[in-house]
Amino acid sequence: METQTKRVLLAAPRGYCAGVDRAVITVEKALDLYGPPVYVRKEIVHNKHVVTTLERRGAIFVDETDEVPEGATVVFSAHGVAPVVHDEAKALSLKTIDATCPLVTKVHREAIRFADADYDILLIGHEGHEEVIGTSGEAPEHITLVDGPDDVKNVEVRDPERVVWLSQTTLSVDETMETVRRLREKFPKLQDPPSDDICYATQNRQLAVKEMAADTDLMIVVGSRNSSNSVRLVEVALEHGAKDGHLVDYAAEIDPAWLDGVGTVGVTSGASVPEILVREVLEFLAERGYEDVKPIISAEESLTFALPMELRRDLKARGLPDGAKVVGQGFVADLH
Ligand code: SF4
Repeated sequence: METQTKRVLLAAPRGYCAGVDRAVITVEKALDLYGPPVYVRKEIVHNKHVVTTLERRGAIFVDETDEVPEGATVVFSAHGVAPVVHDEAKALSLKTIDATCPLVTKVHREAIRFADADYDILLIGHEGHEEVIGTSGEAPEHITLVDGPDDVKNVEVRDPERVVWLSQTTLSVDETMETVRRLREKFPKLQDPPSDDICYATQNRQLAVKEMAADTDLMIVVGSRNSSNSVRLVEVALEHGAKDGHLVDYAAEIDPAWLDGVGTVGVTSGASVPEILVREVLEFLAERGYEDVKPIISAEESLTFALPMELRRDLKARGLPDGAKVVGQGFVADLH
């Protein structure tokens, strides 16, 4: 009987991006500096493990600003908030720390700029996602959400000569380009954003998956179900030739039956996923004969962000290091 060669292709980059790293460190440093509890509006990043770990340290996650007691400290999540949320926090005299990823803030600024110039803004994104709610809140009267290619037929604008598209940072690159193609068919004068809104981390993680997909029988993406960029990675894998693909929060969620007859397993993780969870998946696979791990390196990442200004100011006032720059792990190294 023929023995199946078992191996793992491990994507790089994968896991934490600079924006997620910054947001998580922001909550950790806020807990150290001000002491618990520190309130966090929404999940700081969309990852179950990160949220439960911070909860154990004294973070309290709330859905809305009015759940935070008057005068308390609240951190806004990496996905960004609408201006109305800042107003609500002010009304409650909250001390706010804004951990919005600078690449999301960039999209907010683009929205403000085009709204000021009286454009209709077609925001490509997923309805109900926190980032989309935050960006739309910058100029609700100018922004129309376009939720994928099939939504284009419903889109109407005031003046087809003054229309621009922007997007959520964590979308599928290919699907977004298809949405833009259809929008441009309908509105030939459609303007492009000044620079890519889909962020470097989303693009790089999709690129790595595309390179591996055709060679994999099974793609395991580590990430939470509410993590847009993680969900996209499974879709991208299946679209580019992976025979099967699943999203798991933890190694324990892997069904051993998925491995039946499987030679090559692809492994990657979304931008909000700590590396420890990937290691656990690799251990799970190694125990089942998948010990040969080959990194597939498609890009190197070196982007850095400073911590939020209000936090750096308070750290400095206490004579503590301000954390300088934080950087996404952008894993490129072999784990062994
Ligand atoms: S996925 Fe992109 S936009 Fe989102 S936090 Fe990371 S770097 Fe920022």
